[in-house]
Amino acid sequence: MEISPGKLIRIFPRDNPRSLLYAALNWLVPALCLSCQRQIEADGSPFCEQCYTQLPFQQDCCRRCGQLLVADMDHCGRCLQHPPAFDLCFCPFRYQDPIADHLRKFKYQGKPEQARPLAQLLATEILATQLTIPELLIPVPLHPAKLRQRGFNQSWQLTRHLSRRLGIPCCNSLIVKTRVTPPQAQQKWQQRLTNVRGSFKLSRRPNVRHIAIVDDVVTTGSTAAEISKILKKYGVDYVQVWAVAHTV
Ligand SMILES: [Zn+2]
Ligand SMILES: [Zn+2]
Repeated sequence: MEISPGKLIRIFPRDNPRSLLYAALNWLVPALCLSCQRQIEADGSPFCEQCYTQLPFQQDCCRRCGQLLVADMDHCGRCLQHPPAFDLCFCPFRYQDPIADHLRKFKYQGKPEQARPLAQLLATEILATQLTIPELLIPVPLHPAKLRQRGFNQSWQLTRHLSRRLGIPCCNSLIVKTRVTPPQAQQKWQQRLTNVRGSFKLSRRPNVRHIAIVDDVVTTGSTAAEISKILKKYGVDYVQVWAVAHTV
């Protein structure tokens, strides 16, 4: 009987801590802390305990959009007045080093292999926060021209690792990007909203009610809000946004 490589991956998934391949790989190549290179448990956070406690955890942020709050409130002023189309934004870290450094290497220095530890870190935080688990994970899509240029979609790389880790189905083709938009990082908040408007399209009707959009970094949330608007128009009731870091 012939066993295809795809079937082998299903029998011995690399991200499944109970798989034989996982155990063998960790024995042969021990897991190392992303910051200090000390040997760590392969199954949990990709940082050792000491480095983990020094990470820039996001605290006191708006429950809706994830933005840092100055006063003791649940929601920021903007969300109280004009809430975004998504229902919850979970970004466990601020966009500061060493998290920012790992995210930059991953996205701009062409290191898709960084997706695995970053998704592992995000999964650990999601499980610790006991968020409601969605029925489907989707990435923020890249326009095909941008995808050719970068070689991979960082959001999709995070999504598929997160999907395996949390056992949630994922889909890379539900939302497509139809228009190339200027880089968001160089835009002001109001410009970003107009910038992304009408630049995404649904490829088919989603047959689930609860979706999480996965991204590497959230800034204003305007991209996620635009995608959420489309999802909600077509029957999705609840949309979460999950990203490693929030910039504001
Ligand atoms: Zn360490
Ligand atoms: Zn807010």
